[in-house]
Amino acid sequence: MANTRGEQESSSSQSSALRALPSVDRLVGSESLGALAESVGADAVTHAARQAIDDARSAILTGMADAAPNLDSLAEQVAASIDDLLGPRPRRVINAAGVIIHTNLGRAPLSRAAIEAMSNVGRGYSDLEYDLNAGERGSRHAHPERLLQFLTGAEAAIVVNNNASAVLLALAAIAGGREVIVSRGEAVEIGGRFRIPDVLRQSGATLVEVGTTNRTYAADYAEAITDNTGALLRVHRSNFLVVGFTSTPDAAEIAEIARGRGVPLINDLGSGCLLDTAQFGLAPEPTVRDTLEREGSDIAMFSGDKLLGGPQAGVAVGRKDLIDKMKSHPLARAVRIDKLDLAALTATLQAYARGAALTEVPVWRMISADVAALDERSLRWQENIGGKGLRVVEAETAVGGGSLPGGTLPTRALAIEPARANADALAERLRVSGSHPAIIGRIDEDRLLLDPRTVLPEEDDELISAVRAALEG
Ligand SMILES: *Cc1c(COP(=O)(O)O)cnc(C)c1O
Repeated sequence: MANTRGEQESSSSQSSALRALPSVDRLVGSESLGALAESVGADAVTHAARQAIDDARSAILTGMADAAPNLDSLAEQVAASIDDLLGPRPRRVINAAGVIIHTNLGRAPLSRAAIEAMSNVGRGYSDLEYDLNAGERGSRHAHPERLLQFLTGAEAAIVVNNNASAVLLALAAIAGGREVIVSRGEAVEIGGRFRIPDVLRQSGATLVEVGTTNRTYAADYAEAITDNTGALLRVHRSNFLVVGFTSTPDAAEIAEIARGRGVPLINDLGSGCLLDTAQFGLAPEPTVRDTLEREGSDIAMFSGDKLLGGPQAGVAVGRKDLIDKMKSHPLARAVRIDKLDLAALTATLQAYARGAALTEVPVWRMISADVAALDERSLRWQENIGGKGLRVVEAETAVGGGSLPGGTLPTRALAIEPARANADALAERLRVSGSHPAIIGRIDEDRLLLDPRTVLPEEDDELISAVRAALEG
């Protein structure tokens, strides 16, 4: 009996809560939303108001709320939802996490020249596929090709949407319908479900695995080659290390086997690098030129937005007859690069061609920043933020993004041990503050670490005031 009465009471308080909800018209007609509708249009405000009222209704019906929110709080919710709908997306964030190529944060920040190039080409028309001298149709592939020949020594080049599509296109165009030989240690998942065996299947080629997870010899490739072999594929182990009892055949040895048997050697470099990484204390990586000239790959492929430091793109360089097959394959149209990325990529490559990548390309400015300068910036952050619980500490910046597995650089980070909250709560406040761009830090043993190496110098003042506000808040 008591139960039934309880339920009746709750259902009658529920229906009075539902009755207290305003109509969409009343909410839209409220003072603050009237002004908002003037600036962004009534349709968007009506849409958001309907959603806010629906949400409040479900909260009441599911017992999450026992009263209707008042008109002001609903109006605030509508204004926030309009901000969310009509504000910039993706939003700019400040990367203080100390991971240079951070895929979740958009990988490489672009150079000033790359941004200008995008803006110039985006604003009007361009000779994207028009040959100005001949006055007839041209090719979008022509724009970066000479630069890539100069920078890598390759005979030819094609640029597509991203490296995943470069790999797919290369396999389809060069080895479609035939067998492709891959070491078991390299039949890997790069991330985001990009698995080499799956990509091979999609390309129409058949995977032939050789060797074992930890040890593969050049002879394994040689024994697996048949009349139906379309290519040998090598894949950079971008995001993991194989240590212990391991053996990877010398790249040049595989190339010699490939050449001797007339089978192309395709090399997915992942990040791909045009500069010497060892000069900054990182693991030595063959440059793209080394891969082609010294190691004898016929095709090398890499991302535009990893260590190259440009926009999303996939670059394939190498033998002209093979690149021509890629250019004329039907998939090329499906994976073609857009004009804005092409403009940014060309501008980025030009920085390398002028020998100015270390000073102009943000990724390389970050890699080459010296520890004394980073120490100075962290100290300046500490002084300007002020208060207790702040210390400059030794830390490591990761190169990240499936670039150099395990590759880190020494840095000096600002460590914050907040007095009134824990580090997670502070990290959350910095992500969702709203009045500043989100600041992404890294938690390390109950401290929040902020690494200046991945923060653009022009973002320092924003970071200082955001952290100060978050510590006060
Ligand atoms: C990152 C990576 C890819 C994918 O490149 P995207 O440009 O992200 O498409 C492919 N292969 C390797 C080895 C990689 O590291």
